[in-house]
Amino acid sequence: MTDKTLIKGARILGGEAADLLLVDGVIAEIGSGLSAAGAVEVDADGLVALPGFVDLHTHLRQPGREDAETILTGSQAAAVGGFTAVLAMANTNPVTDTAEAAERVFDLGRTAGLVDVQPVGAVTKGLEGHELAELGLMARSRAKVRVFSDDGKCVHDARVMRRALEYVKAFGGVVSQHAQDPTLAPYGSACCHEGELSGQLGLPGWPGVAEEVIVARDVMLARHTGSRVHVAHVSTAGSVEVVRWAKAQGIDVTCEVTPHHLILTTDELVGYDPTYKVNPPLRPAEDVQALRAALAEGVIDAVATDHAPHARHDKEHAFVDAAFGMLGLEQALSVVTTTMVETGLLAWAGVARVLSVNPARIAGLDGHGRELAVGAPANLTLVDPSAKVTVDRDASVSLSRNNPWHGRELTGAVHATYLRGNATVMEGKLV
Ligand SMILES: [Zn+2]
Repeated sequence: MTDKTLIKGARILGGEAADLLLVDGVIAEIGSGLSAAGAVEVDADGLVALPGFVDLHTHLRQPGREDAETILTGSQAAAVGGFTAVLAMANTNPVTDTAEAAERVFDLGRTAGLVDVQPVGAVTKGLEGHELAELGLMARSRAKVRVFSDDGKCVHDARVMRRALEYVKAFGGVVSQHAQDPTLAPYGSACCHEGELSGQLGLPGWPGVAEEVIVARDVMLARHTGSRVHVAHVSTAGSVEVVRWAKAQGIDVTCEVTPHHLILTTDELVGYDPTYKVNPPLRPAEDVQALRAALAEGVIDAVATDHAPHARHDKEHAFVDAAFGMLGLEQALSVVTTTMVETGLLAWAGVARVLSVNPARIAGLDGHGRELAVGAPANLTLVDPSAKVTVDRDASVSLSRNNPWHGRELTGAVHATYLRGNATVMEGKLV
């Protein structure tokens, strides 16, 4: 039996309305007035069709912290958020620093079957920053790892970073750097943008320059090695300046911004609510404006969630003691719509670029981020562009509740998600 879905009247990338016929996991036909015997018909009047989203930066917590999230529940949150592929960060327990560990994550993702879970390999053994992990074996494994990151920690040793860049170049890989010089912003303690407010609140400062010096060093190492570097979660105007300069020189650098750094500022910290404790920290409004402008301009390539679920017993503490991180998958599209589309900074084709096309290209995922065209894999997302959503953290399908959007009204909602023609989400709910 063939599996057929006929999506009627979706505005492709926000443009003209058309019908899309999905057959056996592929876009079989695009046109107007299509009909197909035996197809499931979906009324998409008023909805925007985009290629399925790809998240370059997801923490799924399995193995090791299944009390915070599992590959299944994180996949569910991703599907609800309109994602068809996520890159699962390596800072699990055990760390994804071997081919076996990468294949385990890959297989658990395929078993969950809601999004393609692509493991990120650690750059160094145990994320310790000293000795390279099994980069080549991970690349050659069934999981075909292409993105490597010690995220949560910075590859701080310049010599190790140089070797990693040289090594991944051989198989078209990329190092995704968590840019934090730990001598300027110590791990664990530095938790608030360094400025007047950190002084007033008495919180240890995390200065923007601790990010910028690593970005500057890494683009020079990328130039020197002729390899490719990706900067995770850029958070300052200064980092944007460095990346803009590096791209103008032809250096192979890409970068991402999180949804939260596009809207939330240091102002949130006044109440010491640990929900807003995140790494890198929330920055002042000038940085937020610079990040939005850079995303619109294309200096920032992608929006990546840094979805970081935490169990209550790790997050509900005094600000200095609470874990770093916030949820991101389920509200990413709504935040991008609110900050970038409603403000006129991005059209829907631009949203497709930053949430799907560019991240898929950076991660080397051929089946994702493709143009919605006949013959392409039917990985797509239907978005209601004008829906008003008041976020309720208890409605989340994530196991965790550290949701910074709780109680806020945002615009834009994911209506449906299709992974290779199969609906994973309909009317905003898991199928
Ligand atoms: Zn990070």
